[in-house]
Amino acid sequence: MTDAWGQFKSFDGKKFKAMDAEFTRGASNLIGGKDLTACFQCAKCSAGCPVSDKVNIQIHEVMRMLLFGLKEVLETDMVWLCTTCYTCQERCPQGIEITDILFGLKNMAFKKRIAPPGYSGARQSLYDKGRLYEPTDWERDDLGLDPVPVLNIEDTKRMLKKTGLMKLEEDV
Ligand code: SF4
Ligand code: SF4
Repeated sequence: MTDAWGQFKSFDGKKFKAMDAEFTRGASNLIGGKDLTACFQCAKCSAGCPVSDKVNIQIHEVMRMLLFGLKEVLETDMVWLCTTCYTCQERCPQGIEITDILFGLKNMAFKKRIAPPGYSGARQSLYDKGRLYEPTDWERDDLGLDPVPVLNIEDTKRMLKKTGLMKLEEDV
């Protein structure tokens, strides 16, 4: 077990107050979520997951938490450490679109401000500078390239505003 990101570390000693049927309904409405009930916990998804030894909660456990309406699933590190490689989805004997569900969970978590800090920073950088990584002139110089071209980011800003990316968080 690593010190991976996420508040929810383990089921050990955890007491859940209530299963939230509304949350399960929301998860069922995610892309891929309609087949949640088909999961019979074979764990074939987890057996092939490349980050299974890096996370506190395995992907088959995430599936069960969703079905049981346990909102703490949004705080598990699996949501953000998933590489979206689609291996679990390919392996699932029930044809559940697991990775697509995880994309939806990322959105749900981000809206509730549950995300590693770097994600907000990356979004802001994209909005402010039009890129996630700022190349420097000396790096380009080393490669014999011209200085970093100035980007016109007004179109990017307009697009990001229109998609609602800058205001994803729900009011709390
Ligand atoms: S492989 Fe499919 S059926 Fe098996 S535990 Fe994972 S999601 Fe459930
Ligand atoms: S898509 Fe994510 S959860 Fe599925 S196998 Fe890849 S890393 Fe694991």
